[in-house]
Amino acid sequence: RPAHGEQRIAVIGLGRFGSSLAAELMARKWDVVGLDENERRVQRHRDLLTHTAVADATDDEVLRQLGVHDFSSAVVAIGSDVEASILVTSNLLEAGVPNVWAKAISRQHGMILERLGAHHVVLPEHEMGERVAHLVTGRMLDFIEFDDDYALVKTIAPRVATGVPLGETGVRATYGVTVVGIKRSGQDFTYATAETVVQPGDVIIVTGRTQAVESFAELE
Ligand code: ATP
Ligand code: ATP
Ligand code: CA
Repeated sequence: RPAHGEQRIAVIGLGRFGSSLAAELMARKWDVVGLDENERRVQRHRDLLTHTAVADATDDEVLRQLGVHDFSSAVVAIGSDVEASILVTSNLLEAGVPNVWAKAISRQHGMILERLGAHHVVLPEHEMGERVAHLVTGRMLDFIEFDDDYALVKTIAPRVATGVPLGETGVRATYGVTVVGIKRSGQDFTYATAETVVQPGDVIIVTGRTQAVESFAELE
């Protein structure tokens, strides 16, 4: 990761998604250049971001003048105007920005962005919907799924994982999951080892194949 000062990112489109993203990046000490064709939106971000500009990002010249080719990353946070999203993404890739992130509003839109060569495509509504489904149906408190069918889950410890040292519970062999962390009420998180004894009510962090982790988190 580049040193502070080189963490310069362009956020194109300051709607709800772009705005929240830009604010979080500022909180993480990145230099954020926000661009939107809507003057009022830009006005609202003027004092919050490193730099802002009112401009149509589909215009090649606009991106060039902003110096995006020197940025380490850019995020295309335009959603509903799919044509603009595709054009801007293509221009950023053409300019050689090494990390181009693009938001898609549909799977088809996402597929086009991927074929264009966008380095990261996010589908906020779809991804959040899937995540919430996991949280709604199970006892999970939090859920992260990685690309390769691998998940990390925060859940209340099922009875099978409690009472005896983890190494003796057989949860890895039986359920295919590994307990990596444990949080007892009023205490900090600690790493789990084979000797750790989880108690009923403890919150645990579990990893493994998505299906295995889901089944394990369903247990009483
Ligand atoms: P969100 O859900 O994040 O609010 P959205 O999916 O509704 O956004 P849009 O409203 O299409 O997405 O776009 C978000 C922002 O991008 C808007 O503020 C819009 O003005 C801006 N935008 C759209 N097209 C361009 C463009 N060509 N150049 C610069 N900004 C643009
Ligand atoms: P491994 O080769 O799996 O690391 P090990 O030789 O380190 O096992 P122990 O650490 O004593 O052996 O663990 C005994 C059994 O308990 C093993 O089947 C191991 O996979 C399992 N186990 C150890 N730690 C955990 C854990 N945190 N969560 C679930 N199962 C565990
Ligand atoms: Ca929207």
